[in-house]
Amino acid sequence: MKVTAPILPFIASATASCLHGTSLLPRSADGLVEINSFNYTNTGGPLTWYGLSEKNFACSKGKHQSPIDIVTEDIDYAAANSIRFNVPSADNAKFENLGSGLAFHFHTPEYRINEEYYPMDVHFVFENSDKAFAVVGLVFELPYFSNSTPLFDSVFAHIDDIATPGTYTKTDHLDFTALVAHLNSHGIYRYTGSLTTPPCSEKVAWFLSTEPLPLNVQS
Ligand SMILES: [Zn+2]
Repeated sequence: MKVTAPILPFIASATASCLHGTSLLPRSADGLVEINSFNYTNTGGPLTWYGLSEKNFACSKGKHQSPIDIVTEDIDYAAANSIRFNVPSADNAKFENLGSGLAFHFHTPEYRINEEYYPMDVHFVFENSDKAFAVVGLVFELPYFSNSTPLFDSVFAHIDDIATPGTYTKTDHLDFTALVAHLNSHGIYRYTGSLTTPPCSEKVAWFLSTEPLPLNVQS
């Protein structure tokens, strides 16, 4: 069966908040994103997010919360190339530390596939004019001997610049060509879930690549 989906417009830049790049993330007068009040410690972790704001209702009461353990036998699956991803490359991107993990919208760890944990996820969040969300996600693996993913090598080259929450830097040119080719040449798991950070809003369309991205952390 051929699944059709709209080509998703890319919303530039990203952070550890699932809302980054959307109209719903609060910004201060100078345009900087406000640092998240939530975190992943024992006293500030996901079980406490509900108490931070009434807007976080779904973090506690939601029925379709992400992330999930992807059971590959059960989950809806779209064949390679049946969903077309299109992410234009960026001359440079603003790379911010929002105080909850590293920015450019990575999470460590989130999705499991058949109960197996992966060291890190990257999320690309898309929002349409009706404020409906779709998230394209990939998990990383850290092979000892392998090529890496150059796009993320250039992102991580700037991590030392943003060690303090609230700081930001500019990355070099970001070439998404290889990432788009990766997404289009492997199958996609799809399900309807939520944002994985407050306000944990549901009815989020998730598209997760079946193939992890290699990241070489030895060099
Ligand atoms: Zn996310």
